[in-house]
Amino acid sequence: MTKAKLTCPKCGKDEYVEMPTTYCQIFYKCGFCSKMIETEDGFCCVFCSYSDVRCPYSQKHDEQIRTFRMDIINVGKV
Ligand SMILES: [Zn+2]
Ligand SMILES: [Zn+2]
Repeated sequence: MTKAKLTCPKCGKDEYVEMPTTYCQIFYKCGFCSKMIETEDGFCCVFCSYSDVRCPYSQKHDEQIRTFRMDIINVGKV
């Protein structure tokens, strides 16, 4: 399991939260102030918005994009 240090934008406290690997978590209820943390525009989840790491889901997505680009480059050479 991957844990992320999620910094609450409401109270500024850090909390270690386990990240889901199969989906993007777009809401998180802060364990300190009990306020709902919402994902910022342009990010896939609360971890990508407010934590020190990117979620496993978006890392996987990046890999797929990279593989796809490599394919285009290879096709261009032929
Ligand atoms: Zn908070
Ligand atoms: Zn994410």
